[in-house]
Formats: sequence, structure tokens, C-alpha cells
Amino acid sequence: MRFTTLGTGTISLTAGRSCAGYLLEAPDVRLLIDCGAGITRRLAERGPEWQAITHVAITHFHIDHHGDLPTLIFAWKYGFLPPRSAPVEIIGPVGTADLFSRLAAAYGEWVSAPGFPLTIREVTPADVVDLPGGLRLTCHPVPHTAESVAYSMERGGRRIVYTGDTGPSEPLAAWARECDLLVCECSLPTGMHIPEHLTTEQCGDLAAAAAPKHLALTHFYPPVEQVDIRALVGARFTGPVTLAHDGWSFDFEDS
Ligand SMILES: [Zn+2]
Ligand SMILES: [Zn+2]
Repeated sequence: MRFTTLGTGTISLTAGRSCAGYLLEAPDVRLLIDCGAGITRRLAERGPEWQAITHVAITHFHIDHHGDLPTLIFAWKYGFLPPRSAPVEIIGPVGTADLFSRLAAAYGEWVSAPGFPLTIREVTPADVVDLPGGLRLTCHPVPHTAESVAYSMERGGRRIVYTGDTGPSEPLAAWARECDLLVCECSLPTGMHIPEHLTTEQCGDLAAAAAPKHLALTHFYPPVEQVDIRALVGARFTGPVTLAHDGWSFDFEDS
């Protein structure tokens, strides 16, 4: 199983970081998690594998987390020959089907009916989604927008938790407890703290409570890159930390 950070930026657009997007590759499944602006470009840079994505999961409805999804569906419909026939499943919090209805009203019915099977599965924290290849997906509510969730992805005895966008949350830390990789948003420096995002210190506190085997930080607004993220997080969480960049990958052996 391989997890790649395709986009580690935010809606504060910068040259080096695309909006949110992550790719989980395992036998029989290619799961794209979030698909913000720039993610179709990041996928294209990797070659034709974008054609073979089997599932997309979105964490919430902010445009920096799903804005490229209509582009990706249009690319699956018209972007290669012969046209895509393989099904794709879109996973998201309650409201995802309504979002697609509104996108279809704006762009056309192809958003929901692109000519290959496209199904939408709305998930709640009670749901366990078993994907091909033994990949198990679950979600947990997070304090960001009303619908926002974090995702857990488990396979072969390994577990990845991606926070999506979140503010501080003790229940989230408990839910992520002792995962193998915690992919955690690290939006802001301390002086700019707001309830909907994490500062470096809050990121460190979340990681200290969750105690992942490895912490990968992402979703950096430009001001947070002006502070010593590694030192500020490291003062609270002593495990291994990666400041992710677009294209960073983490490989898992089955346990
Ligand atoms: Zn965001
Ligand atoms: Zn957001």
C-alpha cells in the first residue's frame, strides 16, 4: 500500500503546492482522497494512472478539496480512447449526492451520468466501507464545516488517518490513536488561530494525544511556512515527522 500527498496547499494559491489531494494505491484499488484545484495536473504529471482511479473520497465541500472533480470526470469521459467504461465510486459525507445534483445543474448531466457507472456513497461515522483489495474506509466528524469528516484507511494491518480540514478535537485524536500514519492539516501559525483549523502547536498536541507511528503535516497556508514548524510540533510530539510536499509518498509493508 502506498499513500501519496498530491496536493499539500490551500486556497492561498502558491506555485509549489496544489490544493488538497491524496492518492492511496493498493492492489485492486486506487483511491483519490480530495480533489482540489491542481490535482488533475498533479495526477497528469504522474502519467496515465489517473485513468485507472477506482474511488474518490471527499472530506468536505470546500472548493479547495473538490474543485477539480468535475474536470476529472470530464477527463474520464472525453480524455482518452476508448472511453472509460470502468465504474467509479464517489464517497463523501451526507450532502455529497446533493452537491453532485447542483454540479450537474451547473455543468450538465454528465457530472452524475458520464457514460460509465458512477455511484455516490454517502458515509456516516457508523459506516464501515469495505473497498476492493481488503481496504477498509471509515470516517469521523471533525470541527471545520458541518459536513466535514476525517478518513481512516486500513489494509494489511496498517492504518492511515487523514484529518482533512479540522480544528482541535480530542475525539479525533482518540479515534486516530496509534495509527501507522497520521496525515494532519497544519494550517496556521499560533498568532492566526481560528476554531476551524490547526496551528502548529495544536497539531503537535493532536499528534501527542494520537501517538501515530509517523506524522505527516500538510495543508500549509503561506504564513505557517514562515515559522519553524518542525521545532514547534516537535516540542509536543517526539515521533517522526514529515513536512509533506506535493509528490511525497509513504510505503507500507503489510504487518
Ligand atoms: Zn482546505
Ligand atoms: Zn475546508
